[in-house]
Amino acid sequence: NNITIAIDGFSSTGKSTVAKQLAKHLGYIYVDSGAMYRAVTLFAMQHNFIDAKHFDRETLVAKLAEVTISFTFNPELGFAEVYLNGVNVEKQIRTLEVSSFVSQIATIPEVRSQLVKQQQQMGKDKGVVMDGRDIGTVVFPNAELKIFMTASAETRAQRRFDELVNRGDEVLYKDVLHNVQERDYIDSNRKDSPLVKAEDAIEIDNSNLSLEEQFQKVLALVTN
Ligand code: C5P
Repeated sequence: NNITIAIDGFSSTGKSTVAKQLAKHLGYIYVDSGAMYRAVTLFAMQHNFIDAKHFDRETLVAKLAEVTISFTFNPELGFAEVYLNGVNVEKQIRTLEVSSFVSQIATIPEVRSQLVKQQQQMGKDKGVVMDGRDIGTVVFPNAELKIFMTASAETRAQRRFDELVNRGDEVLYKDVLHNVQERDYIDSNRKDSPLVKAEDAIEIDNSNLSLEEQFQKVLALVTN
């Protein structure tokens, strides 16, 4: 019996790592909802709606109809990569620059409603693991399993820093930590669908868990 699994939590808590593993193990679809907000942000950046400090909200909202986001499974990677208007942007959306704008873009109600609709459509047939900030509260309030992941800000920043360095980005740990904390703040305090733990979500603090321990913990929740 296929179910819907919602994995929410703060930035860089390792949601996507466990979500991908779980989807693979169960033969489910994995959807990275954060990648969709990142792709919209990249769109805004490409169209010069954003400079270092500002973005033109009205123009972006007016152009939202021109934003098409899709996922295509990459068998080599074992997960679906995100495409913006037909172009693979999986790598481009992970930069610290995109990370520094994305939470602002994610406060725009029109952006959220467009992406939430698409997410609900992608998950309508069950057998889906979706990670994000509002999956258990807004996208799939009836999900059979909801997980809320946490870890200390320093643990999370270190993980994100290692990831960025591994792919060759030149970043400073302090900037990554700042970005993680800033996104947590904006995500938790926005008016529309703020990041909160769903009442019926199970909280997992993975600060001191290995990837394998974390996976086993989540898997046990699925099979119980
Ligand atoms: O998951 P990830 O860190 O890639 O998400 C990037 C940003 O997108 C988050 O910091 C948040 O601002 C936004 N987001 C959101 N709702 C989601 C997923 C992501 O607002 N469901």
